[in-house]
Amino acid sequence: MYSKILKLRFPVTEVQKPIVCTLAREYDLFFNILNAGILPRKEGFMVLEISGSRKDFKAGVNYLKEQGVDVQNASSEIKRNTSKCTHCGACTAVCPTGALHVKRPEMEVEFDQQKCSVCELCVPACPPRAMEVRPTNQLFFE
Ligand code: SF4
Ligand code: SF4
Repeated sequence: MYSKILKLRFPVTEVQKPIVCTLAREYDLFFNILNAGILPRKEGFMVLEISGSRKDFKAGVNYLKEQGVDVQNASSEIKRNTSKCTHCGACTAVCPTGALHVKRPEMEVEFDQQKCSVCELCVPACPPRAMEVRPTNQLFFE
C-alpha cells in the first residue's frame, strides 16, 4: 500500500465538482480528508491522505492535475518562531483547525502542532512572519 498526504488547491470553477469522489470511484484510491475549506478568493483547498497502489496513485494525481487542481506534497511542517511572535492573534482568525488559539486569561497565542494540518494559511497572515514552513519526511510512509 502506498500512501501520501497531499495539499490540493481547486480553482474557483472546479470547487463544486466531485473531483475527489472520482479518485475513489475511477482510480481505486482510498482517501481521508484531513482538512478542507474555501480560501478568501473562493478557491477550495484540501489536505488529503491518499492510499492505493503506486500505479493508481500516479494516475489519480494526473487526473487531478488535468482538472486544473494544484497538487503539492505535504512533506512539510509548520513551526512557530517564538522569538518573532508578538502574540497579536492574527493567525488565530485564519487557522481552521484551532491549532493556533488564544490562551486566556493570559491572552497569549498558543500553537498546538498536533492539531496543525499544514494548510499554511497562517504563514501569510502573520505580520512578522513568525509561522514558518519547514521540510519534514515524517508525513511519508510506504
Ligand atoms: S498551517 Fe497554520 S493555519 Fe493551517 S492548521 Fe497549521 S497552524 Fe493552523
Ligand atoms: S500572527 Fe504571527 S505574531 Fe501574531 S500571534 Fe500569530 S504567530 Fe504570533
